[in-house]
Amino acid sequence: MPNDVSLAERSQRYQALDLVSKPVWIFDIDRRRVHWANRAALKVWQATSVEELCARDMGIDMSESVAQRLKQYQNDFVSHGAAFNEQWTLYPGGVPISLNVRFSGHRLGDSMAMLCEAAPTENREPESLRSVEALLHSAVMTSLYGADGQALYRNPAARAAVVSPDERLEDRIADRAAYATLTAALRDHGIGTLTVLVRTPQGERWHELSARRCRDAVTGQDAVLVSEADISAIKRTEERANFLAMHDPLTGLPNRSHVMQRFERAVATIQSAGDEAALMFIDLDHFKDVNDTLGHIAGDTLLVQIAARLQAATRNTDVVARLGGDEFLILMVSQNIRSEVDNVRQRLMRTVAEPVMISGHEVRVTPSVGVALYPRDGRDIETLLRNADLAMYTAKDRGRNDLAYYDVGMSEAVRSRTVLESELRRAFERNEFEVHYQPRVAVGTGRIIGAEALVRWRHPERGLVSPDAFIPTCESTGLIRQLGNQVFADAVRRQVAWARAGHDLMVSVNLSARQFVHDDLIADLHKGLRDHSGNPRRMEVEITESMLLGNDQNMLDRLRAIEGMGMDIALDDFGTGYSNLAYLHRFPIKTLKIDKTFIQGLDANRPLAELIASMCKLMKLTAVAEGVETAEQLQWVAAHGIEQFQGYLFARPLPAQEFSTLLAR
Ligand code: C2E
Ligand code: MG
Ligand code: MG
Repeated sequence: MPNDVSLAERSQRYQALDLVSKPVWIFDIDRRRVHWANRAALKVWQATSVEELCARDMGIDMSESVAQRLKQYQNDFVSHGAAFNEQWTLYPGGVPISLNVRFSGHRLGDSMAMLCEAAPTENREPESLRSVEALLHSAVMTSLYGADGQALYRNPAARAAVVSPDERLEDRIADRAAYATLTAALRDHGIGTLTVLVRTPQGERWHELSARRCRDAVTGQDAVLVSEADISAIKRTEERANFLAMHDPLTGLPNRSHVMQRFERAVATIQSAGDEAALMFIDLDHFKDVNDTLGHIAGDTLLVQIAARLQAATRNTDVVARLGGDEFLILMVSQNIRSEVDNVRQRLMRTVAEPVMISGHEVRVTPSVGVALYPRDGRDIETLLRNADLAMYTAKDRGRNDLAYYDVGMSEAVRSRTVLESELRRAFERNEFEVHYQPRVAVGTGRIIGAEALVRWRHPERGLVSPDAFIPTCESTGLIRQLGNQVFADAVRRQVAWARAGHDLMVSVNLSARQFVHDDLIADLHKGLRDHSGNPRRMEVEITESMLLGNDQNMLDRLRAIEGMGMDIALDDFGTGYSNLAYLHRFPIKTLKIDKTFIQGLDANRPLAELIASMCKLMKLTAVAEGVETAEQLQWVAAHGIEQFQGYLFARPLPAQEFSTLLAR
C-alpha cells in the first residue's frame, strides 16, 4: 500500500488492529508522520482522532540523532528484515511515557515504514529509565555477546556499526592476532581492551574496544559485554602526526628517527639470518653554492630531485632517509654487504652527478659517501651514524665525489682533535697564550728595524707549544678570531712601548685564512688599534698567497681597507704556494717574505730564489729573507740585494722582555 493513500483506505486496511488491546501504530519514517494508529495507541499519544495524530508533524522537534537512528532502523528492516525491542520514551503533550516497543519493518509502497507494538514497561525507576535512554542515544556502541559468540543485544549505535546482524565479535575484528589477545585477556583477567580495525558498513574503522565477562541478565549464562568508540578521526590525526614526526616534509623521505626505528627492527632479523647491514652517509658536494647563488627554492628543488635519484639507485628494501640539509642516509641489509654497497655506489656516483635543470641553470652536484658496517663498525645506530659521518669526511678530504669505508684510525684522529679543542678553550680562560717577537733586521746595517709577533702556548704539562700544533684547530673551531685579536692587541701595545723607548719598529702580525675572511676583520683591527692608541703606520699584517686566490671583489676590498687604515700588507711564506708573480701588482702589497725553504735549500732552489729576489726589486717590493741560520745564507741574501732578514742567526723569537733587552743593547 502506497503511503499517500487516503485515511478512509487506511482505516479499511488496518481495521483489525483496533481489536488488539496493546498500542500499535505505523510510523512513516520518510514523511516523519504516523501513518496509522489503533485505538490504544491514540490514547497513548493523547490524540483525539487518527486524523489528528496523522496530521502531526513529528519532524518538528525530532533531534538529529533520533532522525539518524530512524534512518538506520529503516535500513536494517530493508537489508535484513530486522525486528527488535527497545524501551522507548514518547513525549505526548510534553509528558514522558516509557514503553517497551517492538519495532519491525512495514512496507508502504516504495517506502519502508515502521510497525510499532507497545507494551507498558514495568521499569518505572527513574534511574533505570534514564540509563535505558542513555544507552539508546549514546554514540558508544554497546553489545552483549553470548557464549556462542552471537549478539544477544546491541544498542542502536552498535547496530549501526555491524555489517550483518548475526555477525559475531570475531567476524568483525580483521586482525586475527588482536582478537586472540583480547580473548586471552578475557579468559585470564575477565577484561580486555583493544584498539583495532573493525569492519562496519562505513568501511574499516578504528575502534577502541573494551570487553568484559559478565552474565546475560535474561538467561544467566556467560556473556561478554563490549563497548566500542569510533576513534578513526583521532587515529587519522595520530597517523598524520606520526608520519610528520617520521618524515622529512620537503622530500617525503623518512627522517633520522625513522631510520633509528627501522634499524632496531632490522637488527633483530639480521642476527637470526646472519646478514650484515651498512649505513651510507651521503653529503652533496658544493650544495651550499647552489643555495647561495640560486637561492633556497632552487636548493630545495635540487634536494627533491636527488632524493628521487637515491631511491631509484637503491632496492625497495633499503631505507633512504634525509637527515637534514644536504645530508642523506641509506640503510641496507644483505648477505654480501660489500658487493651491495658497491652496486649502490656505482649507481649513485652516476645518477647523482647528472645535471639538474633549475630555472634555466644546469646544476650539478656530486656525492661524498661514508660507509659504516654493522656489526663491524658499531652495534648501535648512534655509533654507526657517527662512524659513517667520519668516513664521509674522509671521502671529502680525498677530493670529494668519492666513497670511504670507516676505519678505526678515523676515530682516533677525531678523539685527539677533541681533546686538543677542549684544552684550547681552557687555555683561553687561563691565559696560557703568550706572544714572542722575532727581530727583523736590515741586511745592510745589521740593525733591528722590525719584529714579527709569533704566538706560543704555555701548556701546563707540555711546556711551550708551537703555533703549528694548535693554529689549525683554532681555525677549525673558530677560536682563531679571539686568539688573533689577542696577539694583535699585544703587538700594538709593544709597538707603542718600544717606540716610546726610542725604537720605532715595524711590528707584523700573522693573519690566518679564517680570520682574513671573517666579517669583523676590519672592525677587529680598528678596535685593536684604538684600544691601545696604536700607530697603524708601523703595523703590518702577514697573509699568505692562498688567501689571494679567488681574486674576488670582497677580498680586494679587504686588502684596500687594511691599506686604508695605514697598515702594510706582507705576503708570507712566498714561494711555497703558487708563486704567481704576475698577479702581485694587482694587490696593495708592500713586502714579500721569502720562505725559509728557499733560503735554507739555496742550492736546489737557486734559480727560483734569484728570480724572486729580482722580481722584488723590479716591482719595488720590500724583500725579507726568512729563516736565515748561517752566515753563508746571509751572504747570499746580501749578494742578491734582499734588504731584510729574520732568522736564528740573529735571534730566535723572544719573549717581549728579552726582546726589549736586546733592543737596549
Ligand atoms: P711564519 O709566519 O712563517 O713564521 C715564521 C716561522 O719560522 C716561525 O715559526 C719562526 O719561529 C720560524 N723561524 C724563524 N727563524 C727561523 C730560522 O732561522 N730557522 C727556522 N727553522 N725557523 C725559523 P713559529 O713561531 O713556529 O710559527 C709557525 C707559524 O705559525 C708561522 O709561520 C705563522 O704562520 C703561524 N703563526 C705564528 N703566530 C701566529 C699568530 O699569532 N696568528 C696566526 N694566524 N698564525 C701564527
Ligand atoms: Mg709570518
Ligand atoms: Mg713565514
